[in-house]
Amino acid sequence: MDKTYRIITYGCQMNVHESEKIAGMLENEGYVRSDNDDIADVVVLNTCCVRETAETRVTGNLGILKKSKELKPDMKIIVCGCMTQSDGTAQKLKERCPFIFAILGTHNIDRLPEILRDGHNGKTYVEITDKTKINEDMPVKRTSGINAWVNIMYGCNNFCSYCIVPYVRGRERSREKKHIIADVKKLVSVGYKQITLLGQNVNSYGNDLNGSTDDFPSLLRDLSAIDGKFRIKFMTSHPKDIVPETVDAISESDKLSHFIHMPAQSGSDRILGLMNRKYTSADYLSKIDMIKNAIPDAGLSGDIMVGFPTETERDFADTVDLVSAVKYSNLYTFIYSRRKGTPAANMEGQVPTADKKRRIAELIKRQAQIACGSAVACVGRSYEILCSEHKNGKIVGETRCGKAVLIDGDASMVGKFINAKIIKNVNSKLYGAIN
Ligand code: SF4
Repeated sequence: MDKTYRIITYGCQMNVHESEKIAGMLENEGYVRSDNDDIADVVVLNTCCVRETAETRVTGNLGILKKSKELKPDMKIIVCGCMTQSDGTAQKLKERCPFIFAILGTHNIDRLPEILRDGHNGKTYVEITDKTKINEDMPVKRTSGINAWVNIMYGCNNFCSYCIVPYVRGRERSREKKHIIADVKKLVSVGYKQITLLGQNVNSYGNDLNGSTDDFPSLLRDLSAIDGKFRIKFMTSHPKDIVPETVDAISESDKLSHFIHMPAQSGSDRILGLMNRKYTSADYLSKIDMIKNAIPDAGLSGDIMVGFPTETERDFADTVDLVSAVKYSNLYTFIYSRRKGTPAANMEGQVPTADKKRRIAELIKRQAQIACGSAVACVGRSYEILCSEHKNGKIVGETRCGKAVLIDGDASMVGKFINAKIIKNVNSKLYGAIN
């Protein structure tokens, strides 16, 4: 009988893509995917520690897996991802959950096959190191045949005061351009239609490539020159680092998506200073203007955090003003989560939970009004749509500016670009008909 594996992924798209690499390694070792962790031979928890809720879910899942392991004693439970790399967590997990087979840090997942082959005398094996070398030889088992993620860099140098990423993912490391181009060419040649370039801050791509002039705008131009009909997206963009050359590369290419994710985090200059974001709300809005002027149909998306330490009603009102001025098509809203090991965790003036909840509810309401206005404005317009999925009798597609559209159609349309007119908007959901 085949050996089986299950991967439980928490957190961002970086982690989702990392799970595709873990799946690739496991399948190379002869394991097949199972969706049932009660019977899987290997269960991998690919963790996140950006917010406390993700950590709590990992702890809850380990409690459930302990029972599964009692029923299936040879099950190997592996914990990897950001949470394991945060200070002291691996040791704590090892002591509290001795039934875990191995705990691997963010730089150690490529060791998974070797570690699995070794029994470690029934003791929890821990490997947490700081590696700077990028492993270009990891296999990938992609979950979609249309959309593919490609890492262009790892780590972050920015040290925003609330964020744990630089401590658990290390400093910025860019992949060499030739490897990225080779990956994208290969994906396009086998039929992928949308490539999303991943990095904590894609705008600083190349800064660490000593002796090279490669930067993000030149990477975008080189990827756009690859033959074939496909789209290129990227995330995430730190507002302080997006430059006119990047915006020009987008506006001049027929392949680059017009969807840009640029987290503002706050509209208050005082809070942005405390967050160590290195821009003001005016700087942010001028970058938004630069994008809108060059790419009139740009779809803007952002992240906003409410309840950062000392945030007052005035600060929050500035955030609502910024959101109203930008008119995001998508906004991801978060309540500040205190992360041990970050400067913000020790700040005075933690905001009461009731205030955080009220503020986020108000922000979500304001954004819903903006999204509704933007959806109404789409009705009657025509868009090129990439059909990415067939679900419940409808095609789920995406415009070049990142709007989701539902269209009547069949599974044969998946992976095709079509032109469609938006015929109605129901609660900010867009419905289209083929032109
Ligand atoms: S830019 Fe700031 S928020 Fe984003 S990963 Fe880096 S430190 Fe974290």
